[in-house]
Amino acid sequence: MKSFIDYPENSDFSIHNIPFGVAVFDKEYIACATRIGDIVVDLATLYDFGYFNDVDGLQDNVFEAYTLNELIELGKPVTRIIREKIQSLLLEGSLLSKDEKSIEDCFFNLDEVKMLMPVHVANYTDFYSSIEHATNVGKLFRDPENALLPNWKHLPVAYHGRASSIVISGTEIIRPKGQTKPKDQPSPVFGPTKQLDFELELGFIINKNTELGDSVSVEQAEDAIFGLVLFNDWSARDIQAWEYVPLGPFLAKNFASSISPWVVTLEALEPFRTDSPKQDPEVLDYLKTTGKKNFDLNLEVALTPDKGTEVIISKTNFKTMYWTMAQQLAHHTVNGCNIEVGDLYASGTISGTSSDSFGSLLELTYKGEKPLILNDGQKRDFLSDHDTLSMRGWGEKDGVRVGFGEVVGTIVPAK
Ligand code: CA
Repeated sequence: MKSFIDYPENSDFSIHNIPFGVAVFDKEYIACATRIGDIVVDLATLYDFGYFNDVDGLQDNVFEAYTLNELIELGKPVTRIIREKIQSLLLEGSLLSKDEKSIEDCFFNLDEVKMLMPVHVANYTDFYSSIEHATNVGKLFRDPENALLPNWKHLPVAYHGRASSIVISGTEIIRPKGQTKPKDQPSPVFGPTKQLDFELELGFIINKNTELGDSVSVEQAEDAIFGLVLFNDWSARDIQAWEYVPLGPFLAKNFASSISPWVVTLEALEPFRTDSPKQDPEVLDYLKTTGKKNFDLNLEVALTPDKGTEVIISKTNFKTMYWTMAQQLAHHTVNGCNIEVGDLYASGTISGTSSDSFGSLLELTYKGEKPLILNDGQKRDFLSDHDTLSMRGWGEKDGVRVGFGEVVGTIVPAK
């Protein structure tokens, strides 16, 4: 497949991707968009030019919207055809490639647009599905001998997060304040966190509403997943350590989480399907899956200090996850919990086995005991004000590259 739009070989946004996002064009006009190379395409205007007239199930211009929710709700049978339609329009020799007027009106350079939150997030749940991460955290926070709690290999552990504070990549992250309990003091103190951290995650977005009492089985789960985004679950470790027993994290997490602007569809990730780690002991029947349910996606984290240069601080892969997205959704709904269009389910921190593949500073620096050394000699145990943190993710196989671009956030001082 070759597009009439040129892009570099290592672009995440190849003709094989066709992600969806929401962009501000011309500083005021908002519409759903796709991206190829460094070109952002206004899908609402493309619809008005008649290019989607032959798509069954697409009666209205759902692209003329501030979020992707209406588009996503059309469901996979329709959104799959829309994506394939866009892909064919972007191919060399297509009708669109010869239509100068439409190209002039619908195609924008990346630096001419601003990306917005792609979806209205109805509900957000954060899983804990990396066995390496759960083991590392169990050792650091609790008991090195019994790092994994007895339930961990029997169900995908999760907690309900906060949807209102999920923000688009590029949003400044204000250092949160809260209660912490220093080891050498008898009582808690209040102030800005001293242990601000990131968590490298991927999140999936739901395309359907279900009724209370209904469940989504492992077999049905992937049909309910529109696509994935990069997800940075910013965390304040000192607040977390004091507050998390017995009900789990609260203010340590709900001040902000950042997502990447382009939702990469499950269809675009098909070439990267791979086997999952073997689950032992065997899981209960409602969690049993067949076929390849994991995805081989490279992930990396970069830290750039104020006025400094970027250093890659972690590299790992999504395929190491113990629990799959299908199992997460099946478990989430097995009790009859309803799901909604725009729901976001995050994987939990993705950590590999080696010490340079961990998905948080907590693990990379052993709770701050072994600080990272940056290019200019500065040390980091946790994030400093004006640090910029970037996460990237992509699949690459047989000459096909599909990626997420990045999710970026800069830390600013507490208010
Ligand atoms: Ca998390």
